[in-house]
Amino acid sequence: MTPGIKPLVAGNWKMNGLNSSIGELETMRDQFRPELSAKIDMLVCLPFTMLGKAGDFVARSPMRIGAQDCHRELKGAHTGDISVEMIADCGATAVIVGHSERRTDHGESDEQVREKAQTVLHWGQMAIICIGETDEQRKLGSTLDVLKKQMSGSIPDSAENGEIVVAYEPIWAIGTGLTPTAKDVEEAHRFMRAELVERFGEDGNTIRLLYGGSVKPGNAKELMGINNVDGALIGGASLKAEDFLGICAAY
Ligand code: PEP
Repeated sequence: MTPGIKPLVAGNWKMNGLNSSIGELETMRDQFRPELSAKIDMLVCLPFTMLGKAGDFVARSPMRIGAQDCHRELKGAHTGDISVEMIADCGATAVIVGHSERRTDHGESDEQVREKAQTVLHWGQMAIICIGETDEQRKLGSTLDVLKKQMSGSIPDSAENGEIVVAYEPIWAIGTGLTPTAKDVEEAHRFMRAELVERFGEDGNTIRLLYGGSVKPGNAKELMGINNVDGALIGGASLKAEDFLGICAAY
């Protein structure tokens, strides 16, 4: 936690979910009561194919929906791509950029991630910018160097009309059931906070820093209680309302 920052609990459904899975979202929305929404922000980043229906679904709720990627341009000859404007048109207000699975599967570079984030922010949306080291980099002791490079390359110079959120997701912890120790998470987040303050001055103290990687109801309280951890980005455990709400209950 960081004093003065409202935590964000964000789900990432990845390539999972059909419009028939909307029932899980309905439970999340209905359970996101004023007592909870006063304490945390809740967001679920869905496959593009669910955004239209989900947008109608959360329209009168404090629950937010988002996408998991976008194109850096707002329109044009980019067959198969989706723009931020299209995402916003569905009622979504956030986009994950630079998730490690996109960096690996699609070879996205820091520069490409920054360009996408810039477009998201320009459009007034929240850009959740993901960074994190591989197992090999961790074993070599280069975690903080990797984070420094990814932060300076992937985070735009200005939030413009939107909100920058940074998600630290050690790649070796994603979907594996493994998590870093609380001490390691604390060290990484303290480092990221210092980097943000160096770059953005006092504003760096207001940027939400999420932890992601095998967050579950059973470990959420410990992870979310760490200094400078302002919420979570959750893959597997965000697919079921019971698990996702169990993580929210850590607050
Ligand atoms: C993710 O991919 O963003 C993630 C954190 O996945 P999981 O929670 O399944 O480890």
